[in-house]
Amino acid sequence: MAKNFLKTSRLDQFLETLRLFGELHAPTISESGVHGFAPLDDPADLNLDYRRTQIPPKKYLLPFREEILQCAGGKYREGNSGAGDMVLFGVHSCDLEGIAYLDRVFLSDPVDPGYSARRARLTLVGISCVPDDYCFCPEEMTSTACDLFLGASAEGFHLSCYSTRGRALLAAAEHLLEEGAPLPAATCSGPCFPPQDPDLRFSDHPLWQKFASTCVSCGACSVCCPTCYCFDVREYPGLAGGGTRIREWDNCLFATHGEVAGANFRPDRLDRLRYRFLHKYCGFTPLQGTSSCVGCGRCKAVCPVDIDLRELTVAPKRVQP
Ligand code: SF4
Ligand code: SF4
Repeated sequence: MAKNFLKTSRLDQFLETLRLFGELHAPTISESGVHGFAPLDDPADLNLDYRRTQIPPKKYLLPFREEILQCAGGKYREGNSGAGDMVLFGVHSCDLEGIAYLDRVFLSDPVDPGYSARRARLTLVGISCVPDDYCFCPEEMTSTACDLFLGASAEGFHLSCYSTRGRALLAAAEHLLEEGAPLPAATCSGPCFPPQDPDLRFSDHPLWQKFASTCVSCGACSVCCPTCYCFDVREYPGLAGGGTRIREWDNCLFATHGEVAGANFRPDRLDRLRYRFLHKYCGFTPLQGTSSCVGCGRCKAVCPVDIDLRELTVAPKRVQP
């Protein structure tokens, strides 16, 4: 039998072993009760009893704001892609699938150099979770989109590795492991939100208006979405010549998002809501072969007016003209 079982009592030692592979980040909880991934200097700060962090792990691969180009003295210098090796521990399957989705976008031709450099230095250690009412995912979803995955049980964790780096982690921690029962076959999540009726994109049914009548365009649903990656690029000239080009998160719920050359393609909230929905569930699917919703439930959990896109799956058929 393979040595792939870690007793809970050895978790702290296991975390120390992970530090050999890079700076360790893990789920923690702030004083105000907000769950988030953060550097784990003290294992006592680890908080595995979470459903979803407020901000998903995309923050490590797509910084909220980054300098991508600098020009000085007629010379151009690309931005620094950031820190060194990092191990992200305790990532749920939906967020692993979210990163797998971003990989599709930023690692295909043309490869994004900053994302690619950060991704190459990131080791992912996933962990099983228990869905709550906000989750869209099937129960016991397990993602293989990581280096190592920990399936939690009452006594400890069953470890499965899915990459060369995962095997290296397992080898480094071998002295902490014992023989465990065979693991159940991993099941990959894929898209979680049921495919939509294609007619919905042309529909005029009342749910759009209902959502738009309460949406406050705060953009929280997009900020918190693990697969939303809209960005804006701005250039700031320097007083002594040259300048800086930065990239920062943008948000399709904001009124400014649709502004192009003085026109605005989506001036109304209804248009912006519908655009986000269609882009996420219908527009990406033919391009990437999957919906870009991984079912994390953050958009509903953070929405201040409780908009729940799942209502659309049980929406009445569109009104015929
Ligand atoms: S649309 Fe909502 S449930 Fe789906 S991945 Fe984004 S935040 Fe999560
Ligand atoms: S979180 Fe809710 S209120 Fe805010 S933009 Fe999204 S749908 Fe609108």
